[in-house]
Amino acid sequence: MRDVKEILKDLTWIADNPRACLDEVLAEGKKAVGVMPYYAPEELVYAAGMVPFGLWGADMAVSASRQYFPAFYCGIVHTILELGLTGKLSGLSAVMIPLTCDSLKGMGANWKYGVKTIPIIDVPYAQNRKIEAGKAFTTAKYREILEKLESISGKKATDEDILAAIRLFNENRAACLEFVRLAPKHTDVISALARSRVLKSRTFGDRARHTALVRELNEALAALPECTKGVPVVTTGILADSSELMNILDENGYVIAADQVAYESVELRYPVPEVPADPVSGFAVRLAETEGTSVLYDPGKKRAADLKDLAKEAGAAGVIWVGTKFCDPEEFDYVPVKKVLEEADIPLLTLEVDRQMVNFEQIRTAAEAFKDAVQ
Ligand code: SF4
Repeated sequence: MRDVKEILKDLTWIADNPRACLDEVLAEGKKAVGVMPYYAPEELVYAAGMVPFGLWGADMAVSASRQYFPAFYCGIVHTILELGLTGKLSGLSAVMIPLTCDSLKGMGANWKYGVKTIPIIDVPYAQNRKIEAGKAFTTAKYREILEKLESISGKKATDEDILAAIRLFNENRAACLEFVRLAPKHTDVISALARSRVLKSRTFGDRARHTALVRELNEALAALPECTKGVPVVTTGILADSSELMNILDENGYVIAADQVAYESVELRYPVPEVPADPVSGFAVRLAETEGTSVLYDPGKKRAADLKDLAKEAGAAGVIWVGTKFCDPEEFDYVPVKKVLEEADIPLLTLEVDRQMVNFEQIRTAAEAFKDAVQ
């Protein structure tokens, strides 16, 4: 059995080298489709014989994207577009753009104008995702998406192909969730940075290979004696993959006991149900069932209660709100989340992170002060 360090090295390499992962896929003669956040049906890409490639932007400065998006748009859309405009995503056969928020709704037109070589596939879904009409709408739209994917790949996806893809991605979600459960029990070998890299690496390259690596890691962790040293916290937000931020959490001895992060556990907690009679309808069911995120319509703001329960179950000393700068959906959720946590006496640290951020001193100071307050 390989040791934890060796397995982490492989997963970290994938997370830190997305372009090399894309080149590997292309060198194997496969087509790849870029998948922007949130809830695009990656499984349909796979069922149509191609490889989904996660596009969540990168920690980098932007310049070309400023001609398309105003400066007050979030770093995710800015940096994805920058990567496209500067040719860093060349080789993708298409990009899928979910119409989730106003920023992503503006992406399609900008992409079409600026990145002419990579076609787009819009991913609409019903706002009223829980009612039957909403599910029917989402299913119909996803069938149209499948047809577009099939015309790009030249391969017709059978129901069996779709079900096999759903199974493969659900297995990956289950392996990653098991890792999320094991990580806070092994704080001597799994840092916040390493945890983030393991979860991030799933979006690049072959998903079956990723599942095998994470299962290997879980097995190696389970064989070790437990170590829970550190200050347990729950993170919440859209993204929490900034190396600087993770290093600050590690330097201060924080342990991510659980998360409610869109890019991490929120995506993992809800598998796509297998519906043999109509496999595409499973995606609509998943969207209807998903809770705990600002990016899906949540009129009762159940996210706040979900977060409170998560923090209590994890025995967290507090919650860290990892706000993405200029993200409207997150800002709308902040007040109800703060109120519910205050009523439950759960301390909250509010941070704001941006993909283009270079100075983390304020965050460092806030993280140090919060630790002193909750320890
Ligand atoms: S971070 Fe917020 S504004 Fe940006 S793409 Fe995501 S939901 Fe939209």
